[in-house]
Order: sequence, then C-alpha cells, then structure tokens
Amino acid sequence: MNYKSHFESALDKVRREGRYRVFADLARQAGAFPAAHHRDPAGVREVTVWCSNDYLGMGQHPDVLAAATEAVQTYGAGAGGTRNISGTTHLHVLLEAELASLHDKDQALVMSSGFVANEAAISTIAQLLPDCLILSDAYNHASMIAGVRHSGCEKQIFRHNDVAHLEQLLRAQPRERAKLIVFESVYSMDGDFGPIAEIVELAKRYNAMTFLDEVHAVGMYGAHGAGVAERDGLMAEIDVIQGTLAKAFGCMGGYIAADGAIIDAVRSHAPGFIFTSSLAPAVVGAALASVQYLKQASALRERHQERAACLKRRLHAAGLPVMPSPSHIVPLLVGEPRRCKEASDMLMAQYGIYIQPINYPTVQRGTERLRITPTPLHDDAVMDRLVEALGEVWSHLEIRLAA
Ligand SMILES: *Cc1c(COP(=O)(O)O)cnc(C)c1O
Repeated sequence: MNYKSHFESALDKVRREGRYRVFADLARQAGAFPAAHHRDPAGVREVTVWCSNDYLGMGQHPDVLAAATEAVQTYGAGAGGTRNISGTTHLHVLLEAELASLHDKDQALVMSSGFVANEAAISTIAQLLPDCLILSDAYNHASMIAGVRHSGCEKQIFRHNDVAHLEQLLRAQPRERAKLIVFESVYSMDGDFGPIAEIVELAKRYNAMTFLDEVHAVGMYGAHGAGVAERDGLMAEIDVIQGTLAKAFGCMGGYIAADGAIIDAVRSHAPGFIFTSSLAPAVVGAALASVQYLKQASALRERHQERAACLKRRLHAAGLPVMPSPSHIVPLLVGEPRRCKEASDMLMAQYGIYIQPINYPTVQRGTERLRITPTPLHDDAVMDRLVEALGEVWSHLEIRLAA
C-alpha cells in the first residue's frame, strides 16, 4: 500500500478542478478595521478585507478587547477542564444567561463553535425523539448536515426555501410521528432569508419541532440583535435557536437557546458538548461584552444594512453581476472556479483588496462567486476603490457582466 500516493491523487483532483484552497496569511490590525497586513513571498502589504464574517467589526471593539483582557488577567488563559469537570467559569454562567435572555428562552448552552452546536444539538435532539424524521433544507450548512447524519435518523431534504415541498413531505407523515424541521434564517452564500413564518405555521399544523440556524443573523437583525426571528416577532414560535459567537459577535463559540428541558437534555447527552474542554475565559468574557453591546446597537445595524444596500446599488449600476440578495451579504457571480480564483488574486495583487473566492463544495459548481461582506466600517472611499477595481478585473479577465 502506497499511502502517500492516495493523498497526493486526492489533492491533484482538487487542483485540476481549479479549487485548491490557498489561505491568505493575514494580520488584522486592531483599531484599523477593515485593514489587515497580508504576507506572501513578495512581502507584507496593507490590504482592505471585504470578505470577513466579523460583520460589524466587533472582533476589535474596545469594549470587547477590554473584556477579553480583563478575563485573561482574572481567570487565566484556559478554562481548565470540561464544563462538568472544573471548566464552568462564572463567565460561562453569565454568557448563557445573557444568550437565553437575548432570545427570550428559558436557557442557553454554549459550545466550542457554531459547527459543534449544530452537530451536537441536531443529532442529540433527533436521537432522543422516538423514530424522528428530520426535514432539512437543501441548502443547509455542512454543520447541520453533519448533525442530521450523525443522528442516524431518517431524513428528507426539501427543496431550498420551498414550503410547498416541505408541506408535501409533512403531509405524508402520521401526525403523531416525531418530526424536526432544520433550516436557516439567512443562507450565507446567496444571502436570502428562510421563510420562517411559513415554516413555523407548517410546524404547528403538522406537529413538528423547529430548529433554526441564525448564525448569519445574530447581532445584525432584530431590535436587540437576536436575529431574523426577533425582527419578525417569531422567536417564541421557534423551538431551538442556534447561533455563533464568531461572526457578528466577533469572537468564538456557538450556542443553542431553547426551553429548559431541551437544553438540559442536550447538556446531559451530547458528546460534542460533554467531552471537550470549555471555551477559554477570554473568549467567553469577550463574547459576553459583545452580546451586551449589540443588544443596544440599532444604529450600527442600520448603518450595516445601508452599506450593503449601497454596495449592491453601485455594483448593479456598474453592470456587475451582483446576485439578488435581500440581506447584508453581497455575492458577485463569476460562474467558473479558475476565473474566480484569478479575480481574487488580481484584486489582492493589484488593488490591495481581499475577497476570498468561493468555490465548490461551498457552493454548487457553475455558481462560483466572490462573496462580499460590507460592514459599517467600510466607508465611501474604500467602496469607491472596490467598485472601480471590480470593474477593471471583470473587464481584464473577460468575466460575464450582468445579464
Ligand atoms: C459559519 C456557520 C456555522 C458554524 O459556525 P462557527 O461558529 O463558525 O463554527 C454554522 N452555520 C452556518 C450557516 C454557518 O455559516
């Protein structure tokens, strides 16, 4: 057995398809958001980051940095154990109470990441229900798919955001069978919203539970930043709300918020929660400060939406193929992996603009794109440079313009 050749041929396949992943070596500059230093063999230079999921720049907000520093000075670097064995610091208790209150639920449970929260919670909840059927949106994130698979339960995939299809699947099941509908509020690659009100209505009619991933919405939507379900007055109707502390909250970690019995059951059964050391105090303290800050930051949320709307309008006016997105995410279609990478490389090398190419398997083949995430800190001057650079890159590489 030549083990090594198998890894090499797997990589060759990725390279041949033009989707070999190269990580940009970045040093973000706290206090200078969205600027970062980019290192490559040619040296170090300052670039403007246009693809961060630190959607509101909270990863370097002074309150958040102060809380992280204070936590590390007070409690030390690591938590020192799993949650059960000495790893529940007081900050964990406070953060879970804050998140429960944010989503107006009994309790919340913090985990290592949003990925782990989805994987652990979906698989555990479905396993604890007898003969559970999971109904999952076709565009659900890899972490939700991992949870569905790991549950070992029967699953049915409904076409993306297609409530008629979902209803057809629900109608075919006995009313008394356990059913868990898993979906997202903002789909991160297209930037479209999940039909929360319609799905909640179907869940009630067909006696199903709902699990909503609000990863790309928490901090950014709703009067207190609890997400799209808060904005739409639907938080109470959703059984389990899942979120991350690593995107708009700018830190790290994930969580679920739900009824106390659900949280307690996941806390007591999920291996991905139980058998891992708890998040470091600095991270938990920082996240707590961020959640508290964003609870009363409506002006920042408005500015975020204004920046996204402005960029979409300007790209559209320039004839660039901005994909229709009602949210803060601005996807620009390239439609081919090599061009997508070339466009990204050219933006970085010639314009000091960093936008990572998004290729398969993150998106479907033929829909490769640049996914742009304007934040409240991207001002008109950097936006002018972005729109101009994109126009030049599109023309130089002869990428398709808007239809
Ligand atoms: C990023 C992401 C996650 C995972 O969250 P992390 O905290 O980054 O692990 C889960 N769901 C969706 C839709 C995501 O985009």
